[in-house]
Amino acid sequence: MSFSAHQRELNKRLLANKNFDLIIIGGGINGAGVARDAASRGMSVALIEAQDFAQGTSSRSSKLIHGGIRYLENLEFSLVFEALSERAHLFEMAPHLVHPLRFMFPIYDHSRVGMFKLGLGIWLYDSLALFRSPEMHERLNAQETIERYPEVQREGLKGSYIYSDAYTDDDRLVIETLRDAERMGAVSINYSKACSAIFNQGKACGIEVRDQLSGDSYEVRGKHIISTVGPWTDIFAERIFAQWDKVLRPTKGVHLVFEKDRIPLESAVVMQDDRNSRIVFAIPRHEMLIVGTTDTDFNDDPAKVKVEEEDIEYLLGICDEYFPGAKIQRSDIVSAYAGIRPLVADGSSSEGKTSREHEIIKDERNVTFLSGGKYTTYRTMSEETVDAALESFPPEGRIKFQAPDTLKPLNPYMSHENILQAKLDSRDWEVQYRLSSEQVKWLLSFHAGEAPRILQNYYRLSDHPLSTNRLWMMQAKFAVNEMMCHNLVDFYVRRSPLFLALKDHGMEYVRDIAQVFANEFNWSNEQIREEVTKLKEFIASELQAIHH
Ligand SMILES: Cc1cc2nc3c(=O)[nH]c(=O)nc-3n(C[C@H](O)[C@H](O)[C@H](O)COP(=O)(O)OP(=O)(O)OC[C@H]3O[C@@H](n4cnc5c(N)ncnc54)[C@H](O)[C@@H]3O)c2cc1C
Repeated sequence: MSFSAHQRELNKRLLANKNFDLIIIGGGINGAGVARDAASRGMSVALIEAQDFAQGTSSRSSKLIHGGIRYLENLEFSLVFEALSERAHLFEMAPHLVHPLRFMFPIYDHSRVGMFKLGLGIWLYDSLALFRSPEMHERLNAQETIERYPEVQREGLKGSYIYSDAYTDDDRLVIETLRDAERMGAVSINYSKACSAIFNQGKACGIEVRDQLSGDSYEVRGKHIISTVGPWTDIFAERIFAQWDKVLRPTKGVHLVFEKDRIPLESAVVMQDDRNSRIVFAIPRHEMLIVGTTDTDFNDDPAKVKVEEEDIEYLLGICDEYFPGAKIQRSDIVSAYAGIRPLVADGSSSEGKTSREHEIIKDERNVTFLSGGKYTTYRTMSEETVDAALESFPPEGRIKFQAPDTLKPLNPYMSHENILQAKLDSRDWEVQYRLSSEQVKWLLSFHAGEAPRILQNYYRLSDHPLSTNRLWMMQAKFAVNEMMCHNLVDFYVRRSPLFLALKDHGMEYVRDIAQVFANEFNWSNEQIREEVTKLKEFIASELQAIHH
């Protein structure tokens, strides 16, 4: 097995006994990207994550792979251009995780941005994508917009533009990137906190790590340290250095999740909040409708971020303005989540105006920091960060590494041939595995070219009479053995859409899923009860503001 939760002790031994070229702190998308980039150059790489992989911002985004149409207004053309070319790469690198999506941008009498200005912006957007968007933009008049989007506010509607972008599973993209880094030799571990740095003549040469599961500590030695701790950048730097000038201006973003058919949308809708000069998305995905986000300064510990009453009222208010007929209520909210943008302070007047550009800080104490930026551009930011770190290596130490090789698919099963083969095989799955056509469709969209192998290896192991339970049990076993998943919360929240998308958060399946974990980790009945209680407590605390 690779990237298995069962290899934890082996990974700890490897980490404690080797002198790595790079030690990466933080297992969000940037840490994962840096690990994969460096490993592809032939560097030896250790990655240390304090919580679960992607537990920070990288599982709490709008889950869009996009150029960011609104950054055109801030004249951030190079950011948009770079993001659009990365979007094109990600369609090829992760076809099972990055899916094209159309966006409808309606314009009203009172809109701050009118049809003419938006038209120019959309044209520029398609041209910055070198006219290689999944589909070119369209212009609709008011009547055509209403015909296609009967749910949307009609009063004062002047027309709309429709353009292309993409959505993803942000948490799974982190795991897939780490799985591929491991294939190339990187050693990653979760639930392991970097507590302090070890210095030799003023240069960092190692990290003191605390295993958050067992409580024991050990040292990891390396030639250079890269910090990809996102919103924890200032906290981490203050922890390892005696002196540090803060660099971040973190802002909080909240999303609400609804059942997909609560507002049946043909595509995503862009909603302008003219009072605050910002936009909010309603994003239909295969399993849910996500509405967000907010953007407010946040100066507390990132681990304490929570959805609050004013976030809910703000987002429900926007929904009501744009979809008055839907009469969306608080009771319609299935789940919600909050995350922190690790933005770099640039003296801007507002949260929304603060640049989404990234910053790489080369500290002469042998530590390179990467902060800010977008999920979408993680691959190029990672490459730049490894280049920057390599500058601290002596020329003879640098020369042995190759150029990075990160444009190939993240997962070897995602070649066009494999995906085609999976589609052909899937014709038999209804009979062979007694699955419904919906379940077959879901498997293909979730696992694409890897679906036949996962079915073969894990679905057969259970004899549960209900195929839905069996599929979740299959997912759980796969998550433990190939996605380094240690507990029920991590499975429900970051390895499957159960917590976010289902009205009962998947509690219907909890007994069967917990039994899979119990078999894998030899949990006693008492431990099963404790883990299920932890899951219930997590759900209650995450959704506290909604159910108050
Ligand atoms: C609301 C919101 C919506 C967004 N939407 C989009 C979008 O749609 N598209 C897009 O492209 N971008 C989006 N972004 C931006 C994007 O999500 C972030 O830029 C990206 O996820 C940052 O990743 P990261 O790896 O830098 O940080 P994180 O994902 O936060 O990872 C940092 C990790 O470091 C770990 N860590 C901290 N301290 C330690 C320590 N001492 N030892 C070990 N580990 C440690 C943390 O546990 C954490 O897992 C959004 C951001 C937000 C907040």
